[in-house]
Amino acid sequence: MEDKLRLEFERIKHIKKEDYMPRFGKLFNTNFSNYFYDTGTGKVVSLDDEEYELMTVLFSKDDDGEKFKAVFEELSLEKQLNFLETCSTEKLLRAKKVEDLKLVLDDTDLEDQIMNHTKQLVLEVTEKCNFRCKYCIYNEDYEGDRNFGMGVMEWETAKKAIDYVMDHSGSTVSVTFYGGEPLLNYKVIKSSIEYALKKGNGKDLSFSITSNMTLMTKEMAQFFASVPKLSFLASLDGPEMVQNAARVYSGNKPTFDDTMKGLHCLANAFENSQNILMINSVLIPPYEYGKINAINDFFEGLDFLPNNTEIRITYPQLDTYPFEHWDRLVNNEKYLFYGTLDPLTKWQVYQARNKGLDKENCRNIYFYPMYSLLRLIDGRRRSEEPFDFYPCNGCCVPGARKVYVKTNGDIQVCEKIGTSPVLGNIETGINIQKVQEVFVDNYVNASIADCAKCWAINICGNCYANSYTETGIDIENKRQYCMAMQEAYKDNLSVFYTLMEECPGILDVLKGSVYANP
Ligand code: SF4
Ligand code: SF4
Ligand code: SF4
Repeated sequence: MEDKLRLEFERIKHIKKEDYMPRFGKLFNTNFSNYFYDTGTGKVVSLDDEEYELMTVLFSKDDDGEKFKAVFEELSLEKQLNFLETCSTEKLLRAKKVEDLKLVLDDTDLEDQIMNHTKQLVLEVTEKCNFRCKYCIYNEDYEGDRNFGMGVMEWETAKKAIDYVMDHSGSTVSVTFYGGEPLLNYKVIKSSIEYALKKGNGKDLSFSITSNMTLMTKEMAQFFASVPKLSFLASLDGPEMVQNAARVYSGNKPTFDDTMKGLHCLANAFENSQNILMINSVLIPPYEYGKINAINDFFEGLDFLPNNTEIRITYPQLDTYPFEHWDRLVNNEKYLFYGTLDPLTKWQVYQARNKGLDKENCRNIYFYPMYSLLRLIDGRRRSEEPFDFYPCNGCCVPGARKVYVKTNGDIQVCEKIGTSPVLGNIETGINIQKVQEVFVDNYVNASIADCAKCWAINICGNCYANSYTETGIDIENKRQYCMAMQEAYKDNLSVFYTLMEECPGILDVLKGSVYANP
């Protein structure tokens, strides 16, 4: 054996003994193949069965290196050389030690980002909602967020928030309206859009709004259709039975008919506009394939919407919905997917494999989730040499990526966090030192020991959203998400390579995507 390869063997034996092996990568499978994802470079290499066995022993916690040596020595000389040559030339198993986690700051500092590069204003125009969805995070039964409130944003507050974002943004900025049900405060939404267009003249402005649609009138729909670059996310879970199971008015009253009326109204108005209408559906238990098929048929049959209407579908947020069907799910192997219980992704992969992914014909519940997954894996960090730095998970630049303004003018980092520390208010602006301490330093200090041992550090999308309470970071809660996310990242790798093996043409859908590889 050449000296170079002998040294490589000794190096691998040494890291197995001295370092924490799981951080160097992850083994995963598809229906037909074995692969290894390398943390240090982001590369994925395929392994035959003997190599896979060797890597399994290498990553086994029960082996102090002796079994690895024995399995290695059982390989033919050619196999041994190939394995070592691949590790050496591809620079595998060389992830550098994690000393720090870095926010992606575009080479400028936090203060400059917060003062001059705010990207999005999110206005909580009302805390009120005319629905009482059973999985709502504002439900009295869910402890992770505030309960339904009575706060309503005054025009003066919205105006100051728009002044703030225009003064602190670069050439591009978006304004989002959030609730409760935002249309309950349509007057402030309309005034805000008109004011932002006037005040932000010269900037590249866009708008977005999420609504349950039941309060939509013809006048509102025509106004939204006339606003340049506005996207509308309509909440609709599926056909009548599905929608009315959890998406209800108070007293359990059904919402399907009113929602559909609102959706028709907006779709009519948008017919001759460039503005985009998307749908968000929440899939509640029971998770049976008959039900998932029925939801898909329903959306595919909504002929009054363009064929390329994007439909997002998610499970309810953890702990927001009672799960009485758990036993039926865990005791039925048909719902297992790469060892995890995920009936929806399993169904979506099957659809994508059989029907393909077509951007122009995506009004279904598998295109958008599969497309997003493929983009994420395809666009992951990759390098010939081991990375020099590690990102701060999926964290944004707090106070710059978004400014979330509550009805009373308080500023928080993001509407997806639930209750989180207040960073200032619209009168006094953002307390930059508090952002640095509470969201940058405390997050990194609490996370670094876990992340240093985690194979997913370069593809991790965790952020403040799953980690904070009103008083700051809650590391135990974050760890719960980490476990779920690590499983999901591994499954995503399996899905990507399954689709690549079984229907390689499917990756054409990524052409023209910002993440697509040449
Ligand atoms: S419409 Fe939205 S805010 Fe209102 S109850 Fe339903 S999930 Fe909650
Ligand atoms: S979801 Fe996370 S990364 Fe995205 S804007 Fe909110 S806090 Fe930032
Ligand atoms: S999954 Fe958790 S431990 Fe792993 S890198 Fe992400 S935040 Fe860190």
